[in-house]
Amino acid sequence: MTEHRPSMSKNDQLFARAQQTTPGGVNSPVRAFRSVGGTPRFITRAEGPYFWDADGKRYIDYIGSWGPAIVGHAHPQVIKAVQDAAANGLSFGAPTEGEIEIAEEICRLVPSIEQVRLVSSGTEATMSALRLARGATGRDKIVKFEGCYHGHADSLLVKAGSGLLTFGNPTSAGVPEDFVKHTLVLDYNNIPQLEDAFASMGDTIACVIVEPVAGNMNLIRATPEFLTRMRELCTEHGAVLIFDEVMCGFRVGLGGAQEMYGITPDLTALGKVIGGGLPVAAFGGRAELMQKMAPIGPVYQAGTLSGNPVAVAAGMTTLKLIQEPGFYERLGRAAERLVKGLTEAAKEADIPFCGDAVGGMFGFYFSHNIPSTYGQMMAGDKERFNRFFHGMLDEGVYFAPAMFEAGFVSAQHTDAVIDETIEAARRVFKRIG
Ligand code: PMP
Repeated sequence: MTEHRPSMSKNDQLFARAQQTTPGGVNSPVRAFRSVGGTPRFITRAEGPYFWDADGKRYIDYIGSWGPAIVGHAHPQVIKAVQDAAANGLSFGAPTEGEIEIAEEICRLVPSIEQVRLVSSGTEATMSALRLARGATGRDKIVKFEGCYHGHADSLLVKAGSGLLTFGNPTSAGVPEDFVKHTLVLDYNNIPQLEDAFASMGDTIACVIVEPVAGNMNLIRATPEFLTRMRELCTEHGAVLIFDEVMCGFRVGLGGAQEMYGITPDLTALGKVIGGGLPVAAFGGRAELMQKMAPIGPVYQAGTLSGNPVAVAAGMTTLKLIQEPGFYERLGRAAERLVKGLTEAAKEADIPFCGDAVGGMFGFYFSHNIPSTYGQMMAGDKERFNRFFHGMLDEGVYFAPAMFEAGFVSAQHTDAVIDETIEAARRVFKRIG
């Protein structure tokens, strides 16, 4: 008897195989398409604004490795720097001049950072910044905001409960309640709530950590008033203000969100762009605070691969490329052109839709108004987003596979690439309308 099976694509085959040895078949959850359904695409190569999957299909890529690929994939200068560095050895566990150079560059570009420590992931950067804030203040409590993601350190994995001044429960299994009992979760952009928190417990708050442009609940901008008040309250009460610019740093502009808003945090976490696609992240800030880090201070932190020479070479070359004249103007224009085009195309199909862009980051929402809170963002039409996502994927356009993520353009997303995307969206909106 002949068995008739529907033929499986290479992506399907790889996904089935991956699930045998890797939980869910992926090494980071959002890659698994759980939110949108279907088979994740297994990527074989990338160049400029594109990548190709295992079935040979080309996509215009709007995640750019979730931020790092700001100069476009496989930029020849970045690749050459990596190859040159690799030829000299991959890792030494001893300092190199390249680490000094990238530290100097980061301090020059982000003036609030007087000293910086390199790590290998955004998670390490925020986790270490928290430890430093606690070590420096001798206080335990931390404030974070609903919908902001700061990596997966235990004390930051807190259910985003919106109740006023309620302490959160862990969002993840395996995080003891004791570990998060000092984490206070407040509403993003809610000034009175923040004021209340400081009024009732200001002298026990070690730090406030915030994404000044939030990119982990789709794209939501902090209001300038919210960040200004946050800065004032932290100063008044001796709490450390940590800007998590892992995503928005070197993305919304050369000086990050802090330059855009004109607000100076005490500490900043960076990642993504500063590694140019290899694992580099960092935390830094006022020298007087950073001097509390080991080996000269009492706050411990370390890493076998921290400041890895190959990764630093990729990061340093990327930091040079983003300083070319007009880089951020081009990037911003591309994101705006995309959002405007998508919005017009949705309007033609009579679909409630709006979008926003900040520098090279963008968000789009299946709702009438741009959200300013987690709750408003969650109220978007998820079903329609999912149909749009899959429609665009069929058309060869890869947006983030979840409604809760921001999107990214690179310097290689030319007008022609954006217009091709908008034409595809026009067809998809008609189909899903
Ligand atoms: N902070 C922010 C704002 C992020 O967007 C992310 C990752 N998306 C992280 C921290 C964690 O970075 P990583 O995934 O490199 O650990």
